[in-house]
Amino acid sequence: MTSLSERPRQSRGSSFKAAYVSATLNAALMTMQIVIGHFAHSDGLVADGIHTLSDLAADGVVIAVLFLGASTASGRRAAGADGSFHASLATLLIGVLLIGTAVEMLWHSIEPATILSVSKTVRISALLVAVFVMLAKETLFRYMRAEAKLSHSSVLLASAWHARVDAVSALVATLGILGSMAGVPILDHVAAGVIGLMILRMGYSNCWTALKDLAARPLGTTARQ
Ligand SMILES: [Zn+2]
Repeated sequence: MTSLSERPRQSRGSSFKAAYVSATLNAALMTMQIVIGHFAHSDGLVADGIHTLSDLAADGVVIAVLFLGASTASGRRAAGADGSFHASLATLLIGVLLIGTAVEMLWHSIEPATILSVSKTVRISALLVAVFVMLAKETLFRYMRAEAKLSHSSVLLASAWHARVDAVSALVATLGILGSMAGVPILDHVAAGVIGLMILRMGYSNCWTALKDLAARPLGTTARQ
């Protein structure tokens, strides 16, 4: 049996654990997506790999927020682990990161040089990776959502739902690859553009939510309060 006093530390521990699991998985998936996407000629898979790279950076921010929450909060407050000020700042940072990634990807997808180079059919290894990423992200979503409920962490819950969007993004990449394998190479390229738009939308809503939260805070309120 766990005593009441041990619970905050335990839930903080499970938040950290979930964030580390997510970061490790994202590092592995990102490497697979970018390397195999490149050699198997799939723009969609490479685009999703760049997306996973931004997820990895976002994991880093979540870990930093949980760490700051753990070191500045005390007692009862520690159960929540993430102070709202830190959480809003982290959300804003992730949003800016996502918008930057999306703009770069969309810019790449409308470049004439890229469009003219779309001729090679994507190899089956890209399909295997895209399907694997889809299943891994869905599993990560379920795991993180359970851990977030356990530790009452809003930052972790937001990350969990982001993993669900990632699974949809991998589905788009999968469909693009299938289209290319079926004889329409441009569909893989279109998938890359769609993934770019999804990232842009996600970044925008992250920034909007964070700015609203920050604006709603009374003047002079700091992270320690
Ligand atoms: Zn993502």
